[in-house]
Amino acid sequence: MSDDRTATMPAAPVHFEHWCDYPGCIKWGSFGKERSRGITEWRCGEHLADDYWDGRSTPRN
Ligand SMILES: [Zn+2]
Repeated sequence: MSDDRTATMPAAPVHFEHWCDYPGCIKWGSFGKERSRGITEWRCGEHLADDYWDGRSTPRN
């Protein structure tokens, strides 16, 4: 008897893995901007979208 169901794990959610969406950038996307339902654009601190702070309180720096 053989068991064909060997370690067939369901697709794990990858929400915790989100790198910067900027082309060529391999940094960690710390800042998420929801573009549409279920679609979030992740950017690192250097490549924050221009409208990232829209609708948020803009920090003074
Ligand atoms: Zn980046």
